[in-house]
Parts: sequence; C-alpha cells; structure tokens
Amino acid sequence: QLGLLALLGTLAGVGAYKLGLRALSPRVEMGRALSAGEFVPYYQPLVRGDDYEWCGLEVLMRWKHPTDGLIPADLFIPYAERSGLIVPMTEHLMIQTCRELAPHAKRLPPDFHIGINISAAHCMDLRLIDQCRQFLSAFPAGSIVLVLELTERELIEPTDVTDRLFAELRGLGVKIAIDDFGTGQSSLAYLQKFHIDALKIDRSFVAMAGSDVLSRHILDNIIDLANRLNLDVVAEGVESTQQRDYLSERGVQYLQGYFFGRPMPIDPLLQTLKQAPPG
Ligand code: C2E
Ligand code: CA
Ligand code: CA
Ligand code: CA
Repeated sequence: QLGLLALLGTLAGVGAYKLGLRALSPRVEMGRALSAGEFVPYYQPLVRGDDYEWCGLEVLMRWKHPTDGLIPADLFIPYAERSGLIVPMTEHLMIQTCRELAPHAKRLPPDFHIGINISAAHCMDLRLIDQCRQFLSAFPAGSIVLVLELTERELIEPTDVTDRLFAELRGLGVKIAIDDFGTGQSSLAYLQKFHIDALKIDRSFVAMAGSDVLSRHILDNIIDLANRLNLDVVAEGVESTQQRDYLSERGVQYLQGYFFGRPMPIDPLLQTLKQAPPG
C-alpha cells in the first residue's frame, strides 16, 4: 500500500517521493487532519511597486503533519480540491487567520490587503458570503481589504448562484483577483463578467523580466493589458533586484516574492511588523 504522501504526490502530479506514512485513504487522513487543526496559515508579504513599503500579505496553507512535518501546498491542495474538502479547509484557514491577525490590526499599515486563495468549488457556495462577512467583522471597520484570489486554471461557470455571490461580495467591499494570470484561458469577457479588481501575474512570467527580448515582450503585454483594463497588477515570484526594478519601472502596483519575504508563520511575521517592513 502506498503511503499518504506518495499517494498525494501522485495525485498532485509531482510523483511519489516520500513513503512511510500509512493511511486508509487521503480523504480520511485529510479529514482527520482538518479536525485536528493541522492545516495552518503561512503569510507572505506584499509590497507596493513604487516605494516597496509593506501593504499586505497572501495567506498560504500548510499542512503541519504530526510525523511528516510541514507539507507544501502543491502536494495536498489539488487533492483537497478534488475531494471537496478544500471548502471547509479554507473556512478554517480564514478563521485562524482572523484569530492570529485581528489582535494586531492596529499595527498593520492602512488599507492592508489580505489575500485568500479560493477554489472554484467555493465560488458556487453562498456560505462564502457569510465567511467573508465574519472575516471582515473581526477587524476594525475599513482597516483591511479582503482579496479573494481565484486561479485562472479553473474557470468559474457563470450561474445565478455565482451572480448573486459576486454581487454580494462586491457589496461587502471584497476585492477579486485573478491568480496565475497568463497560465489559463480567461477571456476579456470573463474578466468583465466577474468584475475583477486585480491580476496576479504568474511567477513563470515574472521570471521573464531578466530573460530574452521575446519573453520580456510577453510580460510587457500582460502588464499593458491589465493597465488598459484598469486593473491593479500584482507580480508574484519576485526574486531579484533586476526583476523588482523591471516591474516597478513598468508601473506594476504590487510586488510579492522571496526577494521581499518568504511565506512564514504568524510569529516571525509579527516580528517583521515590529521592525522595518520587508524589502
Ligand atoms: P499561488 O497562489 O500562485 O501562490 C504563490 C506560490 O508561489 C506559493 O507557493 C508561494 O510560496 C510561492 N512563491 C512566492 N514567492 C516566490 C518566489 O519568489 N519564488 C518562488 N519560486 N516561489 C514563490 P505555495 O505556498 O507552495 O502554494 C502553491 C499553490 O497552492 C498556490 O499558488 C495556490 O494555488 C495553492 N494554495 C496555497 N494555499 C492555498 C489555499 O489556502 N487555498 C487554495 N485553494 N489554494 C492554495
Ligand atoms: Ca495566490
Ligand atoms: Ca502562481
Ligand atoms: Ca521596505
């Protein structure tokens, strides 16, 4: 019998690389992990593209497994999406994020953006409205901006339910960002239909900043498109001064990547907040 991680690894398409954990099924094991509170938030800083000041973060899920240690998102998120468990997992993650961050709300820079990754299945679930309302109510009014990141890899089918969901979210002031932009097939009509506020350029394109002319051309075109559509642009995966400078010269509003800070647990994040902002 395959170990859990091997099984998850295969499902995630990254190959079986770790054996040793016995589980009846990943569904059962992940259900157990959810009740045990093993899915935890990590936080990665987001800075402004003009002055590199800290202005937000993205919440990234990690699995703190009792025997296998910290399991990266790529390894279990695809399975969580396939099994439907991603919805309660995300709900739990939002509650934990509130618990960890809301007590420090006064120390956050104004208009602080908090990005949460939302899977397509969650966009058919009207409970998301209340989950966002509760999230916002944990913070002093107007102190944060909640941003839902929807990946371009899974297109959302427009229905009466999604119409109502997106309208109510907009009413709450929740912003919508298209994640991994450039890797999927969302059309301009799609971007308009869902009243998108921001595009997150996938890091495979950001890596082109220091590359050949053709690759840079692709990156420039994505930035131009976003500007023409009046959308904010977030560049993810910024790893070098060269990439940072290239993107800020082109007016990219927000930058995120190892260059400014890695995803980290709440304690180091709060330390960073006390000292100088990242970057
Ligand atoms: P994503 O939403 O595109 O998140 C960015 C990923 O790039 C994160 O990987 C982050 O750690 C990584 N990253 C950030 N800066 C850099 C950099 O400078 N260089 C490199 N090489 N990588 C960088 P992570 O945390 O492993 O997450 C992978 C994917 O798993 C995410 O991609 C997202 O699609 C998904 N994911 C993570 N947390 C959640 C969640 O709570 N819910 C859902 N539905 N998906 C999640
Ligand atoms: Ca994301
Ligand atoms: Ca990405
Ligand atoms: Ca700084």
